[in-house]
Amino acid sequence: MDTGLKGKTALVCAASKGLGRACAMALAQEGVDVTITARTAATLEETAEAIRRATGVKVTAVAGDITTEAGRAAALAACPSPDILINNAGGPPPGDFRNWDRDTWIAALDANMLTPIFLIKAVIDGMIGRKFGRIVNITSGSVKSPIPAIGMSNGARAGLTGFVAGLSRQVARDNVTINNLLPGPFLTDRLRSNTKAAAEAAGVDVDTMLQQRAKATPAGRVGDPAEFGAACVFLCSASSGFVVGQNLLLDGGAFNSTMG
Ligand code: NAP
Repeated sequence: MDTGLKGKTALVCAASKGLGRACAMALAQEGVDVTITARTAATLEETAEAIRRATGVKVTAVAGDITTEAGRAAALAACPSPDILINNAGGPPPGDFRNWDRDTWIAALDANMLTPIFLIKAVIDGMIGRKFGRIVNITSGSVKSPIPAIGMSNGARAGLTGFVAGLSRQVARDNVTINNLLPGPFLTDRLRSNTKAAAEAAGVDVDTMLQQRAKATPAGRVGDPAEFGAACVFLCSASSGFVVGQNLLLDGGAFNSTMG
């Protein structure tokens, strides 16, 4: 399939590791010049170099916290008019909502709702003017099927999903699409660290716990981040202009339903 992406530019947030990195690599493999961000400069530069070596595209690394004004300004200074925006950031911590005060909630909303909205605001009029734009928000399977322990994620990501459901319908006629990718369990650092507490409680190591969990899903395994990157490329491809405001769940069939 010709994705029609060669020569385009992308801003991929939170992309030194895990799902963001997989999206950046997959887009670069289609000939997209990528600007990637993360807070830890050394890891980010290693990833930038790995993408350059693997694909030969132009890779710009911008170290910073994307959930802050300064972090977003630095990313946008390096890549002011992207054809593609991949919104991503770390997820909020688990816990009991009785312990979450206003500041804790605001941090979660900043990271998983307002940061993507402000980045969209910064780039979308340029996309409309050029009659091409692809925006993909990395959210979570928890948007469809809540995970009680991560209530802030359930709430903040649902807020983003609701907002972009409306906005995506306002920009689709200009060939700008906004869609969401909803990961189930993908083998990343985050999944391993999230599994650690459950593994300790069960008296097994993290790999054993992951295998047990994986067996319980229809696919019988956890996801490979490269599969996530491939889905991202599909949503960004030139021929996906009719895919508008969708929530694509990648969870190996774990969410049990006949439709949607
Ligand atoms: P990961 O492997 O821990 O990677 C996270 C990446 O984001 C790293 O590159 C990290 O680098 C960067 N990052 C984190 N916070 C950032 C910030 N404030 N500013 C800039 N960069 C930041 O995580 P992942 O598994 O890819 O998860 C990505 C997103 O998907 C998260 O929101 C997660 O909650 C969600 N998710 C993941 C899964 C899964 O199974 N993996 C399932 C559901 C939802 P630095 O730490 O150096 O900044």
